[in-house]
Amino acid sequence: MPKAIALYSGGLDSTLAILVAMRQGIEVTAVTFLNHFGCDISDKSSCSKDPFSAAAQFGFEVKLCHLADRFIEIVKNPKFGHGKNMNPCIDCRILMLNEAKVFMAMRGADFIITGEVLGQRPMSQRRDTFPKIDREAGLAGYVVRPLSAKLLKPTIPEQRGIIDRERLLAFNGRSRKPQIALAREFGLVDYPAPAGGCLLTDPIYSRRLMELLEFSPDPPLKDIQLLRAGRHFRVRQNGIISEKIIVGRHEDDNRIIESIADDKDYLLWVEGYGSPMTIASSATTEETLGIAASLCARYSDAKALPVVDVTVKTDGNCTIMQVCPASDEMLSNYMIR
Ligand code: SF4
Repeated sequence: MPKAIALYSGGLDSTLAILVAMRQGIEVTAVTFLNHFGCDISDKSSCSKDPFSAAAQFGFEVKLCHLADRFIEIVKNPKFGHGKNMNPCIDCRILMLNEAKVFMAMRGADFIITGEVLGQRPMSQRRDTFPKIDREAGLAGYVVRPLSAKLLKPTIPEQRGIIDRERLLAFNGRSRKPQIALAREFGLVDYPAPAGGCLLTDPIYSRRLMELLEFSPDPPLKDIQLLRAGRHFRVRQNGIISEKIIVGRHEDDNRIIESIADDKDYLLWVEGYGSPMTIASSATTEETLGIAASLCARYSDAKALPVVDVTVKTDGNCTIMQVCPASDEMLSNYMIR
């Protein structure tokens, strides 16, 4: 039985690509790639994708592969540049294909499939980009894109008759109507809405990431994880730039901040009032800690009080800091926009 490795996000297109191949009798192993800038598939409140539900329904295997530092490197220095925001889509596809190539060898698979649709995305899903990506990954001719295959040059598995080109598709462009109709045909009803998932396509997140890389070219993972939560501030005083302060916006942010903080960090909140969880790193100066407390007070339900008691916790010990809530001027001085 011919075998294929599929790049599988858990979204509609990549699921359909697998099903189109499977109905030709191809045995598919799907690989879902994770990185620090995507949604956390183990957390249903932050990610609508579930790579395992379609796999269970249709009977294919899913492997998870975390791209970790290899992905961070291409975000910092993409050979083929960034898209509109910090998304290095071409390098990202090359990296994923490179990893899939390893699975291909391990499984003795004949080719790779992806759910890409010609013309759906401006950077990575163009007629001239597909061959470039495949070549860079050392897979020229071995990547089948079942949803648009009839519009693309025949691949080696098609030429060899391992997969029947006539039974592949000719989807083109951004409309999802053909995919929705095909999903109905397969009995696939539970799939996530398009987009979302990759934070690097988000302009606000991308600006935060650029700012972080400017001050910390090799940031610790924790700093990257914190980019997805809260309001962000950086204090500059007397020409000296200090650590960041992050103030939660809602319960979810507070939960993320608390879960990422380590013992040495400073966690701040206003006891007895609705309050954001606020974090400042262990390297924060006493002066900056005072600013963090003022920011925390400003976004708490105690903001109208002239002086607010802010709880500061570090290393398991809590102390109280009395501060005035931050002024508008302080907010605009320090906020990262
Ligand atoms: S949107 Fe994000 S995950 Fe998707 S190809 Fe681009 S960089 Fe990679």
